[in-house]
Amino acid sequence: MDSMDHHARSSRNYFAGLRLDRAHPRRFDREWLECRRLDPDTRLVPIWRMHSVVCRSQPATPLLLAPDQVDALSPGSMVLLGMLGGSACFAVDIELEESALLERLPSGVELCELPDAGVRLDPQDGALLAYARALIHWHRRHRHCGDCGARNALRHGGHMLECENPACRARTFPRTDPAIIVLVELMDGTDSRCLLGRSPGWPPRMYSTLAGFVEPGESLEDAVVREIHEESGVRVTDVHYHSSQPWPFPASLMMGFRARALNSAIDLDVHELEDARWFTREGIVRELREGRIELPRRVSIAYRLVEDWFDSAGGARLADLVSDAGG
Ligand SMILES: [Zn+2]
Repeated sequence: MDSMDHHARSSRNYFAGLRLDRAHPRRFDREWLECRRLDPDTRLVPIWRMHSVVCRSQPATPLLLAPDQVDALSPGSMVLLGMLGGSACFAVDIELEESALLERLPSGVELCELPDAGVRLDPQDGALLAYARALIHWHRRHRHCGDCGARNALRHGGHMLECENPACRARTFPRTDPAIIVLVELMDGTDSRCLLGRSPGWPPRMYSTLAGFVEPGESLEDAVVREIHEESGVRVTDVHYHSSQPWPFPASLMMGFRARALNSAIDLDVHELEDARWFTREGIVRELREGRIELPRRVSIAYRLVEDWFDSAGGARLADLVSDAGG
């Protein structure tokens, strides 16, 4: 673990490490893009109202369509994702009504929400669907120019939008919102505890690491120190980067940290959290077994942060304790 570089560590996180050639220079080649849109070898990843379409296999696999299959689905924005196994791959926004869509799709497919479906998918497939969803979400939210309100036109294979108003021509690029997420550890001699809390809207009994968005004018580490104190009243030091994870639901990049607590007293921000507590490893094992808590879904960096802390003691592995957890 300690010898792992940050790229390797982040690549373990679900939705990261997509092995796809993003074919950046091709985004500027209009002729090539037009040919690929008609090429029967091209594959398209449909996104319907921010849902992914997967085949009910085991594991589930993304439904990839050929151009002529997509033509019957009233396609909207189409964005070049890159080259996948020698074929061009696009994301496509589908705007049909649900019943009409399901009639036209092959049998045995379902519409599902990432990241809920993540654990049923191979990580590479999950990463492809997350990337496609992120770009289609950005297109849906930026149909009009933020400067003058005129329509935006798709450019660069869908990786840029340009205002159609000749007096404006403002350009917009896909954005990612940085968020920090932190495993806070409290050391007392050799006794180690981690801080987990829960927000009111979460699934029952779920406890997770604390997280928040980076605000303008902050470094990542500034955000770690501020956010943990605001939410829990705990002051932290020894802030260390762990790994990152794309979390395009809708547009976040999660940056994971570990930090050490300077005080144990918890003073909750009740607008953010309904509970936060210090957990020993033994406490987590006991409360999981008794069904009193659940940990974050396994596709999240939150789970990864808790797992790395838990497993670092060298005893039981967390994955063996939560192997039945669905998400
Ligand atoms: Zn404009």
